[in-house]
Amino acid sequence: MTFSKFGLDQEILSALDTLELTAPTSIQEQAIPEILQGHDLIATAQTGSGKTAAFCLPILQALKDGEKAKPNHVRCLIIAPTRELAIQLNANIKAFNEHLTLRHQVIFGGVRVLPQRKYLKRGSDILVATPGRLLDLHQRGDILFDSLTHLVLDEADRLLDLGFAKELDQIIQALPKQRQTLLFSATFAPPIKKLAKKILNQPKDVTT
Ligand code: AMP
Repeated sequence: MTFSKFGLDQEILSALDTLELTAPTSIQEQAIPEILQGHDLIATAQTGSGKTAAFCLPILQALKDGEKAKPNHVRCLIIAPTRELAIQLNANIKAFNEHLTLRHQVIFGGVRVLPQRKYLKRGSDILVATPGRLLDLHQRGDILFDSLTHLVLDEADRLLDLGFAKELDQIIQALPKQRQTLLFSATFAPPIKKLAKKILNQPKDVTT
């Protein structure tokens, strides 16, 4: 099994070559075709399963030939529970984007807001964010969601464990209803099921 059978474009396959990723993991094998077809997805996946590439590669494929993000707009929003995870996601996206020209940014709390306000002005094809700073900057008018097409909640169980339910709710309320939503979580306790039911539309279910 190789990545080429998914129908990903050469720019993406070349980035995978550089990273020496040759055979898809189980989650990638299952999730990539569903995401490429445009389905919503609920995936049970631990860190280390290759979940990041499982959602990033089909999203890059979907965004690569589209119209670039306008100033302050976001096309794909990836919400992560911690600064460390957000930074790591953004680094992964940078590597996958090596031969593409998508603009990706990362924002998180605990640092000055001004530089983030400044670079959000350029627009983000992909924005990786932690919930508190994301909501803050959205409420200041620095992040506009009307052209958003993709939403990912990564480590959704940790997002809820860390008490971000209210922020998530407010952010998701502000997003277009017509979008593709992907939810990744290590566990599926009732609060996650409830969240999934609320934000996903006829999702495909993937477990590793
Ligand atoms: P993740 O679960 O996304 O945090 O990924 C965990 C690690 O697995 C990362 O270091 C990736 O570079 C690596 N990885 C992702 N996909 C593959 C793959 N198909 N083959 C080998 N390693 C991979």
